[in-house]
Amino acid sequence: MIVRARLIVTMNGPPIENGAVGIEGNRVVDIGLFNEVKARNSGEVVDLGEQALLPGLINAHCHLDYTCLRGKIPPPKSFADWIRAINAEKAKLSKRDFLASINQGFAEAKRFGTTTIGNLTAFPELVAKVNEPIRTWWFAELIDVREPNRARDIVDLSVKSLKSRENWGLAPHAPFTASADLYRHCEEIARAKNILLTTHLAESREEMSMFRDASGPLYEFVKGIGRPMDDCGHETPLALFLGRRTLPGRWMLAHLNELTESDFDLLAKSAGKFQVVHSPRSHGYFGHSRFPFERLRALGFNICLGTDSLASNEDLSLFAEMRAFQKSEPRTSPEEILSMVTVSPARALRQEDALGEIRPGFCADFISLPCARPTSVFEEIIAFDRPVEWTMLDGKIR
Ligand SMILES: [Zn+2]
Repeated sequence: MIVRARLIVTMNGPPIENGAVGIEGNRVVDIGLFNEVKARNSGEVVDLGEQALLPGLINAHCHLDYTCLRGKIPPPKSFADWIRAINAEKAKLSKRDFLASINQGFAEAKRFGTTTIGNLTAFPELVAKVNEPIRTWWFAELIDVREPNRARDIVDLSVKSLKSRENWGLAPHAPFTASADLYRHCEEIARAKNILLTTHLAESREEMSMFRDASGPLYEFVKGIGRPMDDCGHETPLALFLGRRTLPGRWMLAHLNELTESDFDLLAKSAGKFQVVHSPRSHGYFGHSRFPFERLRALGFNICLGTDSLASNEDLSLFAEMRAFQKSEPRTSPEEILSMVTVSPARALRQEDALGEIRPGFCADFISLPCARPTSVFEEIIAFDRPVEWTMLDGKIR
């Protein structure tokens, strides 16, 4: 098949005007000017007309479990209050509700042009019941704060549920809800099974005051539910995390909003060793400290965007996420912002040879958007705020 469009946005060179992509099966086999691609390849021509063809978007961090919590929790006074509020909402829901929520989330993400998603689920046992419509990295979200003696069992059970999936990984929730044992066991499994790991780290001021100062609302909250607190009052969340790691390169770290100067010294020594995910709108909802984008980028970190869950965001649109990011980082070029939902998350998922760009050998995962102004196509892509009408996933028009 040959797909022609007014503009092909490859994400590995300048966009190609009046371009085309040759596809065989689920892979790209050719790309270039329409006439040249047509001369070199046979097969049906799909002409998208006045459109830009670009790689399908990749959401590096979300929780489709909570799609049904959209609008249910107003911005909280404290992070601990938000955890209490989401726990109260979750208590009202059945497994069937969560399954419906996951399916709704997939449909919404796809409607917004997402073709690959890194999805954390607190219910790995439900995964077998989901027929995911887009490429999915399933991460089991793991919490043992109320039952630290079961850390290994909790991890092992989740592995049993997930290992039949094509792409899976493990996600200890955060250092305040997952024990050192649980993190350690996840790294052991990652080493044995060659999987990815993700966690929430240094997200809130309260997490910083809990670990560094042994005080604050989050400290009091988790102490109140019986968490051993001997790891508090010494180090920052990042220092504690990095100090215990044996496989730093396997981790995708969500957030990193709260970093001290000593943390930046540590990061300078570990530059490039792990991946970073920023969720601009969830960040705005909580009113976290400014995300240190430029400093992290200058240290060489690969930074991706994610939507996080709809318990702290309004929809699963990565276009809206790019716009929110652009508002806070207006000096970043639109092309670089688009790379944060294509090239960068592909790299974070270790798919830099298959996803996030349009080039020969890569998966045929594309979306098509109206293109009125080829000279400012990246601006136009970021401004796009409707459902995506044409998607190709794995070589098939969906
Ligand atoms: Zn999250």
